[in-house]
Amino acid sequence: MDIKRQTFLVVGVSKSGFAVANYILSNGGKCLLYEELSSPKIDDAIAKLIERGGVKVEKENIDAVLVHIDNLIISPGVPINHPVAVKAKSLGKRIIGELEFGFLQFTPTTVAITGTNGKTTTATLIDEIFKSVGTNSLLVGNVGVPITSKVCDANKDTVCVAEVSSFQLESTALFCPHVSCILNIKPDHLERHYTMENYIFLKKRIFLNQRESEYCVLNYDDEIVKSFSGETRAKVLFVSLKEKIDGAYRVDQKLYYKNEFIINQNELALKGEHNVYNSLFAIAVAKLFNLSNSDIVNVLKNFKGVKHRMEKIALKEGIEFYNDSKATNTASTISAIEGINKPIVLILGGSEKGETYIDLFEKIKKSLVKHVVLTGASRNKMLECAGAVGFNRLTLTHDFTTAVKIAKLVAEEGDCVLLSPACASFDNFSNYEERGEKFRQIVDEL
Ligand code: ADP
Repeated sequence: MDIKRQTFLVVGVSKSGFAVANYILSNGGKCLLYEELSSPKIDDAIAKLIERGGVKVEKENIDAVLVHIDNLIISPGVPINHPVAVKAKSLGKRIIGELEFGFLQFTPTTVAITGTNGKTTTATLIDEIFKSVGTNSLLVGNVGVPITSKVCDANKDTVCVAEVSSFQLESTALFCPHVSCILNIKPDHLERHYTMENYIFLKKRIFLNQRESEYCVLNYDDEIVKSFSGETRAKVLFVSLKEKIDGAYRVDQKLYYKNEFIINQNELALKGEHNVYNSLFAIAVAKLFNLSNSDIVNVLKNFKGVKHRMEKIALKEGIEFYNDSKATNTASTISAIEGINKPIVLILGGSEKGETYIDLFEKIKKSLVKHVVLTGASRNKMLECAGAVGFNRLTLTHDFTTAVKIAKLVAEEGDCVLLSPACASFDNFSNYEERGEKFRQIVDEL
């Protein structure tokens, strides 16, 4: 793609939109900007891009502008069925996502990780393993680092470790990683993708362009993911906690890769069954790149974890406090609960993503959760679902600070308070990071 000769319209000027527009302008392309939202951050991004030659398009002019562009670059936050994208498509314009655009700029050796839960943790683990052996590894994508912001840091030995969300996969057509990983598939983002069928269809795009010489690592214990093995041209490796398969697996609390012992489960820095999966995926990828067991084990033993994911933030009066604000769907909250072996006071609730909470409360009923504090916009729907399965050890409050204070009051020495909301954060916060920071601040002040 000759950037200098083309006109781009970037739709959605937040983090990815800013990065890609900045890249285009720095490389001599014409870049138009379209944004329907306004916030100090977005307005600042647009102002900076205008200084660098970008042109903002107003809503009333968008139809006229679409006729003259060559490419529409869509940000992950903007759905592919947005009227502007639909119109552009009907005019025969190329629609491309920021991830794919960046990937096509330098086609690096790429490891791409998708799945409903565990993407950031697994991608960060893999990136740290590469970095620990001196590889120029770039951790990009849904981790909050647009790939176009990193193109200038790449050289011929670079490995890109890309966390890829279903939102990003909506706008990929040519993306082709050397190794793809699918961690798991559980209901999520149905407010955007409407059906599980569509969500699964999008997840499969990660391996769609892979060839016979490339690799696809799949979760053998997840029936949906396992079934993809017949649909990819790439060589398949599996990950399993239940069976000795061709790939990375666990037997008797020991982790193996193709018959070779790698590490004891109790030596992993990250705790919980879900993190055994994440570690096995990291092992499989590292072994595909011929890294040594000692280099892999070193990172797995010392990994500090990622903020807002089962992060132990305080111990007060014998009560541990865990920040799992990134648990934004029921599957991730279930894995969080299953990873703790002491009584739990659980804080649940936030903005809705089209999920039911029946299964969650079925699991809660049989778990070590002794009390649930419901808060946020989803609290009444959650209350109904709890009632439907006969779980009644509940307190309801609309206010987040009050929810944390109640959780502390209910908890006793030896218990833990866990914020693992099973919902997005947009009812009261700008994002899950802000929710996690607020939790930390309230806990500090208790
Ligand atoms: P993602 O990037 O896919 O959202 P993260 O690594 O950020 O995943 O983890 C999000 C939450 O999901 C964590 O808070 C944790 O409780 C849960 N989690 C992490 N890994 C897994 C996994 N492999 N399976 C199920 N849940 C997981």
